[in-house]
Formats: sequence, C-alpha cells, structure tokens
Amino acid sequence: MRTPKDDKPIASLSVDLDNQWSYMKTHGDRGWDSFPSYLDLVVPRILGLLEDLDLTVTFFIVGQDAALRKNQDALRAIAAAGHEIANHSFHHDPWIHLYTERAVEDELTLAEEHIERVTSQRPVGYRAPGYSLSNATLGALQRRGYLYDASTLPTFIGALARAYYFVSARLSDEEKDQRKALFGSFSDGFRPIRPYRWQIEGEDGAYALIEIPVTTLPFFRIPFHFSYILYMAGFSVPLALMYFQSALTLCRMTGVQPSLLLHPLDFLGCDDLEGLDFFPAMNLTGETKALVVRKALTTLTKRFRVSTVKEHALISHQSSEYRSGLRSFGAGRTA
Ligand SMILES: [Zn+2]
Repeated sequence: MRTPKDDKPIASLSVDLDNQWSYMKTHGDRGWDSFPSYLDLVVPRILGLLEDLDLTVTFFIVGQDAALRKNQDALRAIAAAGHEIANHSFHHDPWIHLYTERAVEDELTLAEEHIERVTSQRPVGYRAPGYSLSNATLGALQRRGYLYDASTLPTFIGALARAYYFVSARLSDEEKDQRKALFGSFSDGFRPIRPYRWQIEGEDGAYALIEIPVTTLPFFRIPFHFSYILYMAGFSVPLALMYFQSALTLCRMTGVQPSLLLHPLDFLGCDDLEGLDFFPAMNLTGETKALVVRKALTTLTKRFRVSTVKEHALISHQSSEYRSGLRSFGAGRTA
C-alpha cells in the first residue's frame, strides 16, 4: 500500500567532505602539506544530525584523507552509519580539468584504492573538486565503470564567486591561471538542472554515464545549497530559511528533483576553527550554523524523500528527459 510518504518526489543530499588542508591548498596558504584535518571534530556532528533526521546520504571523500591514518576512524564511522561513499579525487586539485585522461584515471584509481581500503565501499559516483569537469574526466569515469558524475553546478554566479575568492587569496599569476575555472564559467549557467546522460567522446552512447547536477534555483540559476543559505543567515536567519523554502517550492512546481550538498564548514563556526575566516559565513558560530542546517534539512525532508545520489541516479533512468538524449561536454559551454 502506498503511504503519503511514497508520494513525495525524490531529492538527493550529499556531503563534500573537503578537509581543512584542501581549502588551504586551493587558497595558496602555507602548511597545507601537513594535511591539517578537522574530520574528527566535524564528522560526528554531521552524522549526529543525519541520524536525528533519519537520513542516508552520499559522502564524497578525498582519497588523500583516506590515505592518512589520523582520518580513518572518522571515515569508517561514515561507512558504518550506512551512507554511500563516493569519490572526490585524491589530491583535490580544482585544476584537475587540465589533466590528461590518463592522469585523471590515475587520480581516480588512487582515490578508489584508499577509499575502499578504509570504508570497504567501492565508489560508483564522482564529484570533481571545484566542479572542474572535462572530457578527459568523463572518459576516465567511463573506463573505471562509474555510474554517475555529480560535478556540474549550473549557475551564472561561479565567476563572481571566483572573483571574491581571488581578492582574499595570495596567489601568483601562474596559480591564478590554474584556478581560473574554479566555480565554473558563465556558460555553465546554461547547463541542465535535471539529470541527463553524457555522450562520451568516441562512444556510441551504449554506455551512458549519468549526470546529477547540483541543483540551482529553477529559471534563476542561483545556488541554494546550504553554504549559500548560511551566508544569507549571516544577515538574517528567517530570510535565509524563507529563501530555502521558496527554492524548494519552485522545485516542486517545476518538477525538479533537487540534489543538494553540504560542506563541513556548514557545521563549523568561528569558535571552532582558525585560518579559514576568508570563507563566507565564518562569522557565525558552529551552533548557529548547525541550527540553521537542521531547520533547512527538516523542511527538505517534509517535502521530498531524501536519498543518496546513487539512488537519485538509478531513479533518473525512468525520467523522460533523461531518456530523451545524450549531451556532449561541449554543449552549453562557449568559453
Ligand atoms: Zn571539494
């Protein structure tokens, strides 16, 4: 028998488990190469909230973290709680789109080995660091037998986010050049916000890697994942929650099944951490952030059946838009 719960449309939720060192590395801060980690602090917070809300989600894990003994207890706890484990590269280089296909494949393989050794799960999903996707990456994902990619953020404001980032970072021209695709280009805003299949170069389409885009606001293409909600919460918590609710309403009205993401910094505040104050919303305490995220997630679970990204990908097979055709990486990308 169908219950009202079954009638809710699906939404997927994922956590990009970026660690302290990866932010420092991208930002060009000294000391990143000793791999400072906040996983022991933040993972129990995230798992506690997910357990309270009875949610099973996807964690995109960085291979380098799995390779270090100091992080292994935290990572094992995620797998033990039943969450999906996916691949977020080994080195977390947001310039991975500049790599050759062979280099990307090496990166994926190395991450898989360490992630599987620690969590006993072999990833079937991938998200590129900094949404930096390329044809080479799609080819490498195909060869490694991946089910889905979740590296596109169809928004126009990535270029603005990058400008903000560069102002606060001390980077050489060469380093800035490496990072020039960070957060995506303006043309990324024209990419679809619903799941679709990739046309892999040189393939006949028999193999179809699924794309699960990170959802942005239908029509407006403004992100509304939790980091943005928290940034707004820095000005007004009620306004931020209202924005989130409106975004979900728009998704329901347009039949978009949202795929939303969380970051560790959504659970860490100025009282938890030093050195990452260049991030938006780091003026809030960890407690305030956790409260806002809990309220927003509660709203999400009332209106959608929240699942892993893998389940979202498997269900997408049934949607007409997904079946209607293949998209090549060049489509919608003019720069
Ligand atoms: Zn990341």
